[in-house]
Amino acid sequence: MVVRSILRCFLLFGLVLWGCSSVEEEIFLDTWSVQETIFEVPFEEEVINYVQLADDDVQKFVSAGQGLWDAQYAPEDLVSIPSSEHLKAGSNHRLREEAAGALDQLSLAFFEEFQKPLVVVSAYRSYSYQKNTISESCKQSGYCAREGESEHQLGLALDLWETTNEEKFLAKYQEYYDWLAEHAHMYGFHQSYQKGREVDGYFIEPWHWRYLGVELASELYEKSITFAEYVGYGAL
Ligand SMILES: [Zn+2]
Repeated sequence: MVVRSILRCFLLFGLVLWGCSSVEEEIFLDTWSVQETIFEVPFEEEVINYVQLADDDVQKFVSAGQGLWDAQYAPEDLVSIPSSEHLKAGSNHRLREEAAGALDQLSLAFFEEFQKPLVVVSAYRSYSYQKNTISESCKQSGYCAREGESEHQLGLALDLWETTNEEKFLAKYQEYYDWLAEHAHMYGFHQSYQKGREVDGYFIEPWHWRYLGVELASELYEKSITFAEYVGYGAL
């Protein structure tokens, strides 16, 4: 009787163990199949919020009504733009170091094409310069940024030859502009304002180029979109 009870206990215990292991096996199989499914899905690219980036990020997005975190931000790595045979810049024009190096390469390529220097008429502009020197009427017009909202304050933007209006500029510099439109991205530069105020926040400015790095500038070039379109600024 006792022996039979012990045998029955072993039998029940065995059944329980078998049951548990089969459940574990099922869970394991489920997990495995889920993992397989995950690995079959391509990883999504990391989504960068260019508006939220730190002020000193090379890809920081600013435009009218979309300013810097610190309105009085000033970059710490500004360097003078060196004048040379292939690059002319007014005295005390500065850019951030990375952008200045890229500009030097861009101007060298420009010079090889045209035997003329690239001429920079404006680069870094401080908060106080933008606040005190740029007229209120220009800020209202949609041609000039308010202080704390300018790509020039980032130390990453420059104006070439002269800042007039699109028509006058292209009448004089169409050939140079066409070359820049095809080549500037290879050196990391992008024409921020090409599609008008509703899209980019400002009127079209064929003289204004902003450094974004080769990868992003090339992506915008290939997609034929502005940085503002890329970040969805129009929808802000
Ligand atoms: Zn500009």
